[in-house]
Amino acid sequence: MIEKPTYVDLAVIGSGPNGLYAAKQLQLEFPHLSVAIFEQGPIAASNMALYPNVRWHSTMVSLTIPSSLNSVIPSNYAPLSSELANYYQWVALESQIPIFTNSKVTELVQSGPELEGNWNLVLESPPSSSWTLAAGTVIIATGIYDNPVPLPGFGMEMVRRYLDIGITGKRLVLCGGGTSAADAITHLLPSNEIFWILRGDKPHKVWVEVRPKFESVVSQYGGNLTMITGTQMTSVVRDTVLLDNGQSISGVDEVLALIGFASLSGLVSKSGIRTSNGGLWLSEDFETNLPGVFAFGSISSRWDDEKQKIDQSFVENGNPDKFEAILAEIKSQYARDVFVHGFGTDDWRILNPEDAPAPLPPSVNALLGLLPKVAMAAYRLRNLLAKFLRRISFRP
Ligand SMILES: Cc1cc2nc3c(=O)[nH]c(=O)nc-3n(C[C@H](O)[C@H](O)[C@H](O)COP(=O)(O)OP(=O)(O)OC[C@H]3O[C@@H](n4cnc5c(N)ncnc54)[C@H](O)[C@@H]3O)c2cc1C
Repeated sequence: MIEKPTYVDLAVIGSGPNGLYAAKQLQLEFPHLSVAIFEQGPIAASNMALYPNVRWHSTMVSLTIPSSLNSVIPSNYAPLSSELANYYQWVALESQIPIFTNSKVTELVQSGPELEGNWNLVLESPPSSSWTLAAGTVIIATGIYDNPVPLPGFGMEMVRRYLDIGITGKRLVLCGGGTSAADAITHLLPSNEIFWILRGDKPHKVWVEVRPKFESVVSQYGGNLTMITGTQMTSVVRDTVLLDNGQSISGVDEVLALIGFASLSGLVSKSGIRTSNGGLWLSEDFETNLPGVFAFGSISSRWDDEKQKIDQSFVENGNPDKFEAILAEIKSQYARDVFVHGFGTDDWRILNPEDAPAPLPPSVNALLGLLPKVAMAAYRLRNLLAKFLRRISFRP
């Protein structure tokens, strides 16, 4: 077991796909600085463990850590959550980034005016230990799945936000008009009776990966689907769902709340992170109002003034580009030396920037970057050769 650090230069909170990606990139860009991830549960825990039997459609496209691992899950295969969680755990092991699991960050506290830019992370590790660690720069990659948007009836056993795609023969009420609801319908429709409650007059944009299957399932089994538009749930009384248009649906087995999640968590509010229109307030570089504290991944979904809606951030829509902006800002902050290092002689503060080993010449770096590709090509060539030799040795 690794000892708990008291200081880390670059702290990443959350080990979902984006937290892992961020830590990996930080490690590559700042080899002389210490990087660590703090995760409240197991690695890549949250939504993958909650929805173990649901397929993901697009996550491999941009999350390539490192790219040679793509051969493990081909990009045209939609992995199950459980397969993906295994993959990310493997990625985490391969990357050798220190990850402190079961370490929930509950608050960020500025270290004091004389240490501007440094943050204390207050952590909780079950069953009851709490500890503090100082960090130079913090990337919050805590996702959104811990913070469901509340629905009437939340807390009742029959009102669920997790989808069990194995349900059959049930009378279900499904709330939410986006991709998650459409995806759920592709799994549930053939063998359940669904009442689909929509606030608008039709579903809003459904991802292209989901749309063809959704349309085909609806055209085949549409008899089991009743769409009720322009209304919303007001309450659940025993097995009856009441709607604000006066209608009610009785004999309901389960209500599925696929109405979305919010970026606003206990960590955000306790730390005084500014919010705007239900999302985090973030600068162009995804920095929060706390200097040196950035948001990345689905937590970084922010209000778009032009579109007048939250610009949602998933794995698939260009997070690596967004991380480039964060990296550039961190580099410029370190260049300005806004971070005062003053946390004593702790092994975890690996080195001061001035002690960093001299960077390798670009040509050597480029050659090193080629090594994994050459190794993979050699491995494939070896397999091909072995196949060929087997074939000719079996020839009569
Ligand atoms: C069933 C399903 C299918 C999906 N399919 C796709 C898809 O095909 N393509 C796509 O792009 N997106 C998909 N999504 C959305 C997907 O969840 C996000 O794109 C992705 O998980 C975002 O990654 P993230 O790293 O930002 O956050 P998360 O994966 O949510 O990871 C956040 C991590 O932070 C940890 N954490 C939270 N709070 C704290 C704290 N205070 N301290 C320490 N750790 C904390 C959590 O335990 C978690 O491990 C899907 C979601 C679900 C549920």
